[in-house]
Amino acid sequence: MTSKTPITPDVITIPRQLDDNILPNIIGLQRKALANALNEIGTPAKQIKMRTAQIWQWLYVKGAQNFEEMTNLSKDFRNLLVQNFAITRPEIVTRQISKDGTRKYLLRVTGGHEVEAVYIPEKDRGTLCISSQIGCTLTCTFCHTGTQKLVRNLTPAEIVGQILIARDDLDEWGKDAGQKRNVSNIVLMGMGEPLYNTDNVRDAMLIAMDNEGIALSRRRITLSTSGVVPEIIRTGSEIGCMLAISFHATTDEVRDVLVPINRKHKIAELLEACRNYPKLSNSERITFEYVMLKNINDSDEDARRLVDLISGIPAKINLIPFNPWPGSGYERSDWNRIEAFGDIVNKAGYASPIRRPRGEDIMAACGQLKSETQRVRKSAKQMAEEIKGQ
Ligand code: SAH
Ligand code: SF4
Repeated sequence: MTSKTPITPDVITIPRQLDDNILPNIIGLQRKALANALNEIGTPAKQIKMRTAQIWQWLYVKGAQNFEEMTNLSKDFRNLLVQNFAITRPEIVTRQISKDGTRKYLLRVTGGHEVEAVYIPEKDRGTLCISSQIGCTLTCTFCHTGTQKLVRNLTPAEIVGQILIARDDLDEWGKDAGQKRNVSNIVLMGMGEPLYNTDNVRDAMLIAMDNEGIALSRRRITLSTSGVVPEIIRTGSEIGCMLAISFHATTDEVRDVLVPINRKHKIAELLEACRNYPKLSNSERITFEYVMLKNINDSDEDARRLVDLISGIPAKINLIPFNPWPGSGYERSDWNRIEAFGDIVNKAGYASPIRRPRGEDIMAACGQLKSETQRVRKSAKQMAEEIKGQ
């Protein structure tokens, strides 16, 4: 395990940049909607296809942040765009960089709400973990996000905006498709349940996958769900990305408590949806996430039940050491218990990587998003008050 030596993370606070621009955001529209919008502002019919392609390229290949940059458009047309649209990304409130290179962005979206995105660099690639909702309506008992009230779903622009911000920050615009990418993979494992916001998540991922734009392959996008069974089939047919299931328990009795959506969609129903997931194969396996909770779900018996349950499903099991938070009432399983559990799963023929904790010093781990930030920010405020009082 990584050491827990306290260190001071590199935190920058970026001043508020955006005014409350009321013009519609041009980010987040599907190509067809963009074409329609150009038509509505009076773009000559003959030019619409070409203009749509040009603007798309500026937004999603070059990362343009204003219309003035779009030099292959006439000045008049650029003015027309300026008068009718804005290019708006979520506003970066803070960016923290961990000693292991993990970057956590606290982002402000319309209405002043905040969400987080986390970039996890790896050798020759990197994964961006993005949020789909502000908070979460589900109440998984071990998850800190689940203790927050849902404020609202994120829009496609706010979901794509998280990718744009990471690419801005990592200086990743204008690279050829063949070049090494910092943001090579996307996981929908931040705040929220993506399948309670399926339409917006789908629209955002269609933009991320567009070959003439960000051009991420569907196999490099993983959507994690707690088990919204009726939406799983749409995920396969309408997005076609990789699927991860927050499984976490091997009996309905325990899963009903840990992942309460199980009361509505039982394990058997969930696994049936997994078996029917399109394109399932040995090269496109479902990831079963399994948070290791001491004396709750981590016995040898659980491991054996798990492999029986998923038998026949091309799968890998991602063992997640529980990330504790104050008042959760759960403890992380001991390391040798996690390894013993992993061995049983592994011997049954399933890869069972143990997720390495990343960005611990900046509290960027799964299930800790946002709430810990509030804590950090609150203490920063307290500090400011203390300084004032001196
Ligand atoms: N709502 C979706 C995606 C976001 S959660 C889902 O539940 O799948 C991303 C992953 O982090 C899920 O597998 C979730 O169960 C796990 N997680 C939540 N809280 C955690 C914690 N405190 N420690 C470790 N993993 C946690
Ligand atoms: Fe929501 Fe996922 Fe947390 Fe459950 S684990 S409360 S579904 S974010």
